Amino acid sequence: MFPIKQVYLEPSLETHPSVQRILQGLGHLPRAHIGNLNSLIDELVSCQQDPWKEGKQIILIRSYQGRLVKDCPGTRDHICCGYKIINVMSNCPMDCSYCILQGYLNNPFLTLYPEFEKVFREIEDILERHPHRFFRFGTGELGDSLALDGIVGFSSEAVPFFASKKNGVLELKTKASGVDHLLTLDHKGRTVVSWSLNPSRIIEEDEHMAAQLGERLRAARLCQDVGYPLGFHFDPLIHYPGWEEGYRKTVDLLFEYIDPRRVIWISFGGLRCSPSLKHVAQGRFPHTRIFSGELIPGKDGKLRYVKPIRVEMYQKMVSWLQAYDKDLFIYLCMERDDVWQEVFGWSPKTTGGLNKRFEERIAHFVMEGK
Ligand code: SF4
Repeated sequence: MFPIKQVYLEPSLETHPSVQRILQGLGHLPRAHIGNLNSLIDELVSCQQDPWKEGKQIILIRSYQGRLVKDCPGTRDHICCGYKIINVMSNCPMDCSYCILQGYLNNPFLTLYPEFEKVFREIEDILERHPHRFFRFGTGELGDSLALDGIVGFSSEAVPFFASKKNGVLELKTKASGVDHLLTLDHKGRTVVSWSLNPSRIIEEDEHMAAQLGERLRAARLCQDVGYPLGFHFDPLIHYPGWEEGYRKTVDLLFEYIDPRRVIWISFGGLRCSPSLKHVAQGRFPHTRIFSGELIPGKDGKLRYVKPIRVEMYQKMVSWLQAYDKDLFIYLCMERDDVWQEVFGWSPKTTGGLNKRFEERIAHFVMEGK
């Protein structure tokens, strides 16, 4: 379990049913009201040597100001996958050295936004306004979808909600292994449960507090057994001495547990980060070796491996995966058109083009009950 030690709560939410349930799940942790949020954040940031580590141990429950469902911001000059992000939390109790949230969020607390009814209204609105388009929604961009889900309870409401939707699916993206609460839900194949995978060495050194590789795959197997479509994300792919053996073994282990025909999608994304994230991460994790590869800035200002390295990693991963099933749906996360061309011999060209491919994949896999 995660070492949560304190809960702060917005007083107006105290009687909200989701909050009541969350508080019950958190047991007898000390509670206090959020007075002035900015002062609370300032105090954490100025008094703690590592505000991120400390913030991950303190839950803040508050209202979200603004829309809770947003377009994934993507990145300039790269093909994105047209995802919709659901904000029911920000930050994560796990602590990966490369986590983008360290350089992105300005609130280091583990923050929950419990007004799920607002989320569902916004999703209904999007789906009804565009009945002929198809949308993918996910909670795993500003935190881990399942790490605290047993307490937060979002999936228990969201999975049945999506089960009746004609033009939307939910993706729960995680590095955790607690899935028992998902196994009895009526999902109708409209929720994809997906795991981020890396070789065990990277998990041990850089994915602190996350589940081990075998635990993730056992959890995926449980979800497969009750019919959920599965996704896997090799993101970030890390280029380290011995990476070929590490990733090849990871792919082999994946298909010891999982039937490739139950995998709706697999993504790759080479390690990328802003210079400021690299600085924060190296300060917090001085022993990490993941930034020792050569990373150069792209047009969007983010640091990446040089193109020949990325292409080689993607091509090899494709060949190892397709040895198990040549029909696997594999896509690249935030890559350029020319990289797609070199890896696959074709490119979706635009975010719209990639979205169309997703629609076809989902129609084939979910709607036709593959
Ligand atoms: S699991 Fe994801 S959100 Fe959580 S620390 Fe790791 S990279 Fe960040």
